[in-house]
Amino acid sequence: MIRGSMLILAVALLTDTAIAQQRGAQIDPPSIVEYQPRSTLVVPEHPVPRPRYPVVDFHGHPPRLTSVAAVRQLLLQMDSIGIDVMVQAGGTSGETLRQQLDAIRQAGAEKRFAVFTTLDLRNVGPGSGEQIARQLDADIQAGAAGVGEINKGFGLNHRRTDGSRLRLDDPELDPVWRTAARLGIPVFIHVGDPPEFFEPHDLSNERWLELALFPSRRFNDRSRYPTFDSLMAERDRLFERHPGVKWVLAHLGWHANDLARLGRLFDRHPNLYSEVGAVLYDLGRQPRNARAFFEKYQDRILFGKDSFRPEEYPYYWRVFETEDEYFDYYRDYHAFWKLYGMGLPDTVLRKVYRDNALKLLRR
Ligand SMILES: [Zn+2]
Repeated sequence: MIRGSMLILAVALLTDTAIAQQRGAQIDPPSIVEYQPRSTLVVPEHPVPRPRYPVVDFHGHPPRLTSVAAVRQLLLQMDSIGIDVMVQAGGTSGETLRQQLDAIRQAGAEKRFAVFTTLDLRNVGPGSGEQIARQLDADIQAGAAGVGEINKGFGLNHRRTDGSRLRLDDPELDPVWRTAARLGIPVFIHVGDPPEFFEPHDLSNERWLELALFPSRRFNDRSRYPTFDSLMAERDRLFERHPGVKWVLAHLGWHANDLARLGRLFDRHPNLYSEVGAVLYDLGRQPRNARAFFEKYQDRILFGKDSFRPEEYPYYWRVFETEDEYFDYYRDYHAFWKLYGMGLPDTVLRKVYRDNALKLLRR
């Protein structure tokens, strides 16, 4: 017994010495930005340059459609990547809205675009709700297809006239949401940012690189910002207050890393929808769980891309349509990991790519 232990110890010492000799001078580890190992994995690859079905991009941020030429230019790009309908999600109001709608009409492209209006939610005070509701009504009569993208400033930065943070469920805005419910239009709302943006920026933070590159995305200063969970609770109270509104939550509500949480929200709010813009990295790291989620909530999920970069769309098609393994994502500061394909069935793909969005946009 003792002799056996001695032998193991001797071998261990020898091995250590051999490793130390081989190692030579120690090398400092590289930074996470420098370390770009190439993958040696050889597996079948199925790039998908065009989607299997014509797509509605519900979270579109193409250039402003200020002229017929601008519309035609965008149509060429849309055709090249398989986008049938582009929602101009960055809303515009009044004259700018009318200008875009006119350009689309003059180009004969009414079936290819939906344009959203925007709500000015800065400096809300007594009477603001009624005033914003009137403007919403007018923009919808002028041809806007919905309220678009209410950005993350609402909930994080927008103030009331008394200087306090404007809460998502502020009753002053009730007339706005009641008007949206009456009109039957979708309200596209982006609340908060990924949960890690609200956490300390330390070396255990999954989004360390992005927070290093973009200081304005750090919402972890508790004297200025609510926690992620309290902001989400405010959002949920807003949905509860206005169950008649067709809410479309941007970015899977920033719950793509916890799909069961989004599932509970879907279960509580039958009028709630969500889109997949800029959270592909979370779906692509849990392909089996994500596929089960998409199958269960196939009537509630919409395709959306967010930033308009035509070369990035095929990453989405590949994740949704194939069962490819361990392939690159397009933006290193979103995710340092690789993606896997979900292999969605055709029936689900058609709804997510197109049918669910068209139902919401049809009036
Ligand atoms: Zn957006």
